[in-house]
Formats: sequence, structure tokens, C-alpha cells
Amino acid sequence: MSEYTTDLIVIGAGPGGYACAFRAADLGRQVTLVDARAELGGVCLNEGCIPSKALLHAAEIIREADEIGGWGISLGTPEIDLDALRDKKSAIVAKLTAGISGIAKRRKVRVVRGAARFTGPNSLDVDGETWTFKQAVIATGSSPIHLPGWPEDERIWDSSAALELRNIPKRLAIVGGGIIGLEMATIYAALGSQVTVIELFDQIAGNADADAVRILSASLQEQGIVIHTATKVLSVEAGKPALTLTCEGAFQGELQADAIIQAVGRRANGHALEAEKAGLSVNEQGVIAIDTGCRTEVPHIFAIGDVTGGPMLAHRATRQGHVAAEVASEHAAAVSTDLIPSVAYTSPELAWAGLTAEAAKAAGIGYKVASFPWAASGRNLSSGGGDGLTKLVYEPDSGRILGATIVGKNAGELLSECVLAMEMGATLEDMSLAVHAHPTLSETTAFAAERALGTLTDM
Ligand code: FAD
Repeated sequence: MSEYTTDLIVIGAGPGGYACAFRAADLGRQVTLVDARAELGGVCLNEGCIPSKALLHAAEIIREADEIGGWGISLGTPEIDLDALRDKKSAIVAKLTAGISGIAKRRKVRVVRGAARFTGPNSLDVDGETWTFKQAVIATGSSPIHLPGWPEDERIWDSSAALELRNIPKRLAIVGGGIIGLEMATIYAALGSQVTVIELFDQIAGNADADAVRILSASLQEQGIVIHTATKVLSVEAGKPALTLTCEGAFQGELQADAIIQAVGRRANGHALEAEKAGLSVNEQGVIAIDTGCRTEVPHIFAIGDVTGGPMLAHRATRQGHVAAEVASEHAAAVSTDLIPSVAYTSPELAWAGLTAEAAKAAGIGYKVASFPWAASGRNLSSGGGDGLTKLVYEPDSGRILGATIVGKNAGELLSECVLAMEMGATLEDMSLAVHAHPTLSETTAFAAERALGTLTDM
């Protein structure tokens, strides 16, 4: 049995782990990065953000090809070569994961393949090899939740299986109307499936702004996606010709499907690490608790990303990765999750950060709302955009922006201006006085601010 020693060991090479390893190497640390899978990049690159966005891009082209029919341009019915589409998606993933390996090499980060588990506060077993370390960062991510009592059946997929593009089912049921479920619905509806989304709560897209969700929901339904909210799946039966879902709630009865995607959330991967041997506790949800410097209860062990709970998003993991590397290297750093943006890359996109009106109300925070409907945006209309909305939540006295929600084309890109505004403590006046190029979708943030200030002339 071989034994190795390292200064800083990072367990998990997702967007949290590799960002942490590279930042620590830049700070002069001797770093080892361990991952159980063959390719670096974690869930995000291999079976999450990147492959889903590649397929969403294809879905958007299919949708736009159809819509341009209304502009007098006929592109005909798209022919889908599923093998070629799968290859294209895989090639994009391979290019990015190879890029991460190259960056690791250039930064002299040692990469070790294997599953790690703690054997003590300063030691790990990695596939039978012993690693001792001064400091460790846990970045082991999360895994899809599988609902109990469902049959084992190759027609029942989680998000990873769904992204493999095994086939295009005629009838596809998606259980869970959160961001991942809605992105899968957008992809498969464009590829030709009859999609039904079943969501337990009263609205899709979790805790997003209700007005924006109404717009998204209407658009998804226009794309042929059936949405049942306030509905619980009681059981699933795997019959020969079809899968049968029995539901109760707002939709009551049975649904037949040729495939089902379970998109009911993700569970933090804290339990597989034997973390108690390092003196660490892991809660029932698999989450490892941290402070704002990403330190766990064991001061020389840090944790970042999905394994520390929600929001389970790549950019949160990356920011935490940088902070953990800096704090571990005795630099002052901290991270807050108040302004982590959330984006559903659906058609249209839905993006939000900071407080929604509903959250401000529930927390008893005084707020006002500034909004601008995209029906009055020249750029939106002239680029074939549908219904959309830009909504800002602000402090009544100071006008300081507390939250932003955007639903419409490219909402995810547009939100960044609002996040920066909030980070800088900007007010509605700041937003309105910064000259926005015309015609752009970004004008809608300035227009929302002007509308609340009474200076808008575009409506
Ligand atoms: P992960 O990316 O989960 O990486 C953890 C790594 O740790 C894995 O490679 C795993 O092999 C390794 N590991 C686990 N246990 C061990 C062990 N014991 N030993 C060694 N290695 C181990 N987020 C966004 O921000 N934007 C998106 O558009 C987006 N889209 C998504 C789409 C889908 C379909 C899914 C599933 C997720 C999506 N996410 C998105 C979420 C995003 O992928 C995660 O938040 C992000 O990957 C978390 O990063 P992480 O570094 O915490 O862990």
C-alpha cells in the first residue's frame, strides 16, 4: 500500500474543487486534486450545466426555425439525427474537460483518480492508497434524489440519463418542475416529445417571482408542454407498453408515459466520505456545515459547493472554491450567498437574484416594485421575442435595489448588470442614469427604474 503526503488536498474536481485547486496553486500551495470519475469538471461539465446548455441551444434553434415561418421564411421540418446531436454535445464536454486537465498540468496541480474517504483528521484513503495532508477541501458535490418505491426500469431516467439522449420518447413525464425539470422539458419538447411536467408545489420554478413564473409557464404551454402544479405522484407502475403514473391533487388520475424523468432535487454527497473519522458531522441531507470562510467545524478542513447545501449552483461552488483556497492560505476572504443568481435556461429564460417581492414580504422587509413589460421593448419585438418582464425590488426610502427578476430572451445574461448593481449598492436612480444602448434588451432594466421614478418616456 503506497503512502503520499500533500500540503492541500481537494476532494472532488467539479467547478468548486478545480477552482479551489487552481486558486490555491496560484497562491503558491502544493495541491493535490482527487476525483472518482475519469474526467475532471464534476457534474457541471460532465452531466449538468454544459451538456444541458448544448442541448438547449439545439432546442432553441428548432423553436426559432419554426417561429421564423411567421416572418415569411420557411426552413421546413427539422430532421433530427440523434447520434450526431449526442456526438456534438459530447465533443463540447470533452473539449472543456480536456481544457481543465491542461490547466491543472500548467499549474502543477497533481491529479489523482479514485474515491476518497477519511481515515483520520489528516489522512485519507484513495482507492487503497494513503494520503496525509495539512489541509483538505471537501468538494464532493451532490447526486440526484431517486424517489423511494419506484420500480427499476430503464425508461425511468434521472437528469444524467436524460442528457444521454437514449431516445426521444413519444410521451415523456417529468416529475419535478424546478429548473432542471423545466430545462429537460424544453429540450425534449423541441425534439418532439409530448411532455407533461408534474410539480408538487403551487408553481413551477420554485421560489421565483410569481409574475415572471406565469409568463414562463404560459410560454412553455404554448410550446406544447402540459404542466400540472399542486400535484403529487403517488405511484409509478412499469407496464409493458407504457409506464403509468398515478397522481393526486390538482390533477387526479393516471398518466401514461414512454419515459419518465425524475427531477425532484439533489442530495449533498457528505455521507460517502466517512467524514466522522476526521471529526466532522454530516446532517441527514448529506450536508456539511461551513462558516462564511468555508471552514468546517474542523479548522483545517474546508467544504465548498453542493456538499454544503443550496443553492446548488456551479457559480456558488466556484466562488466558495476561491474563498476556501484564500482562507486556507491565510488571506482574508468570505462569501455570502445572498446575491447568488439563479437562471432557468428555458425558452424564455427566467433569471433572478436577491429578494423577490414574495420573499421581502415574508421577511417583513419594506419594499417597492419597479417593473417594465417587454411588450414595450423595441428590441424584444424586433428580434422575435415573446412576452417578458423586468422587475426590480427596491428599498422605498433610498431606492436601493434589493432584488431583480427577468423573464425573457437572454434573461440570464441581462441579470448580471442587476447583480453588479446590487453588489455596488446601486439605486433606481443609478440604474436609470446609466445610459443603456438602444435598442437592447438591457434597456428594460433602466426603463423599469425610470418607470418607478416617473421619468420614463418609452411607455
Ligand atoms: P460537482 O460538480 O458535483 O463535483 C463533485 C465531484 O466530486 C464529482 O466529480 C465526483 O465524482 C467527485 N466525488 C464525489 N465524491 C467523491 C469521493 N468520495 N472521492 C473522490 N471524488 C468524489 N448549475 C449552474 O450554476 N448552472 C446550470 O446551468 C446548471 N445546470 C445543471 C443541469 C443539470 C442537469 C444538473 C444536474 C446540474 C446543473 N447545475 C447547474 C448544478 C451544478 O452542476 C452543480 O451545482 C455543480 O456541479 C456543483 O459543483 P461542485 O463542485 O459542488 O460538485
